[in-house]
Formats: sequence, C-alpha cells, structure tokens
Amino acid sequence: MSESTKKLEQRRAMHAIDPDDFIRFLADKAPDHDPCMVCKADEWLIMCPDEGPTYRFGIPARNVEKTFYASVLMYYCANCGFLRQHVSKVVNDWVRENPANLELDLKDTPDADHEDGEDV
Ligand SMILES: [Zn+2]
Repeated sequence: MSESTKKLEQRRAMHAIDPDDFIRFLADKAPDHDPCMVCKADEWLIMCPDEGPTYRFGIPARNVEKTFYASVLMYYCANCGFLRQHVSKVVNDWVRENPANLELDLKDTPDADHEDGEDV
C-alpha cells in the first residue's frame, strides 16, 4: 500500500461514522415524529453498506479557487426517495461529544477470552 493510499485510508477511518451513531444524532436533533416533507411517509433509509460506516459524499464547491468538497451524510425516504443530508463534521462533532453508552457484559462466563463476544 502506497504512502498516499495509507493516508487516505487513515483519513477515511478518522471521519468514519457508524450508522447507529448517525441514527442517535438524528433522534437527538429531531426527537419528534419527522415524516417525509414530500409524501408524509415515515420510513427513512440511511445510505450505508450492510456492515461498515455510513457513506460520506463529497459535494464540490465551485466558488473557491482550490477544489473543496463538503462532506455530507445522506438518508432518503423509503417511499418517494426524497433525499436529506447533514454535514458530516457536525455529526462527527456531536458523536464525539455524545459517545454511545457501552453496555458492559458483567456475566461471569467460562469463555471470557472469547474475543468476538458471541455466545457459544
Ligand atoms: Zn417521501
């Protein structure tokens, strides 16, 4: 892996946002019922893979000399496809200030050294 590829991977990992954290952010910012403003449906889908961080999209800004990309996270209405987006830095800052409550597994199991935490 080249040095520039490594740096790119590090930057991607540094700004990665777990879909669960994005959902927590959305629930915090819009705690009331938040239907689609186009069709009034209330099912939203986050743009993310089955496993892994939420996709971040770069939107190029045209009114600056050097190409600058605004990084956003997107989700859309499951019924009509209406797309919504949030600046990923704002979400990232919120997640850093509001970390998920980690559930501690206090069970005394004989397989305590089983690393992935699955019940055997
Ligand atoms: Zn809709």
